[in-house]
Amino acid sequence: MIPSSATSIRALSRFVWLVLAVGIAACGEGAGLAESSGVDEVEVQRGPDMANENQFGPPVVSPLDISSTFGHRWKFSESRFDFHRGIDFFGERGDPILAIGTGTVTGFFPEGSAQYPNGGNTLIVRHDLAQPFQWQSRTIGRIYAVYLHLDSYLVAEDDTVNAGSKIATMGDSGSTTFVHLHFEIRAQTTCSLEFQVANPESSCAENGFDPHVHPYIFIGGENADQITISHQEGSPFRVTFDATRGDLDLNELRTGRGVINFNRRTGIDATSTESLDDFEYGWVTIVPEQFLSTSKTIRYEFEFPAKPDYVELTDIHGHGMRLLFSK
Ligand SMILES: [Zn+2]
Repeated sequence: MIPSSATSIRALSRFVWLVLAVGIAACGEGAGLAESSGVDEVEVQRGPDMANENQFGPPVVSPLDISSTFGHRWKFSESRFDFHRGIDFFGERGDPILAIGTGTVTGFFPEGSAQYPNGGNTLIVRHDLAQPFQWQSRTIGRIYAVYLHLDSYLVAEDDTVNAGSKIATMGDSGSTTFVHLHFEIRAQTTCSLEFQVANPESSCAENGFDPHVHPYIFIGGENADQITISHQEGSPFRVTFDATRGDLDLNELRTGRGVINFNRRTGIDATSTESLDDFEYGWVTIVPEQFLSTSKTIRYEFEFPAKPDYVELTDIHGHGMRLLFSK
């Protein structure tokens, strides 16, 4: 570990978060709490990244058995950075895979399919939303739950499924080195932004955004807000973020230099997989620490070539913290 004079703060309990949210509402953004070592630590409450009110269940029986979360990650199997557009749940071959809610099986792509060449046995379930909402200048009226690397199917195309229905079993088909479920939620369309860019005449190209969103927005998560943020002086200036396993929902980085939103991919070139997997953004480099099935926390390092005025980090619910640095 790097020795440093880091200011480290432990996120407050859920109860205090809610109290702060009320207190902060008046000034819109944040309220100063404490000062130490020339750093103001500020609790932040913004709106959620998606105004979704449709809730679904988990796709596996043990939803804390996660080996990769959504967003920036170090892809261990290929020794490179990779923007992961799903959550990986690990388990044993044959473990049940569950439908997250009422829906219809609309995609059935056995191993070797042209559409999902690396996904192995792939299943897609369409869920129409009881409460559509606005996002990316579109009405989001449906989501698609995408399941990869399955061992076997327990449903067929056009079947209707319900929350908790066993629809498949966990496996390691396709391009993977271990038994797990790669689970995605895609909003409104299954059509990735890369496909839309490469196929501008396609009807799905009119969406204009990458539909992969953080699955926790729909299937929940612990949302325990057990986070720690610290900083290390020097060049590059580093801010470190740690969150516990059930709370892997970091969503937005804000500084005076720029904003990067993981879920919307604003501040990120998401038009190709190559550009998405490049974590050097000029004014900041995001360095996710290796996360394993045994890791209790996830850590991101944010490296700034120059000391920023402030660094704010918020999750998909809009909860977060801001560190204000004196000159
Ligand atoms: Zn995955």
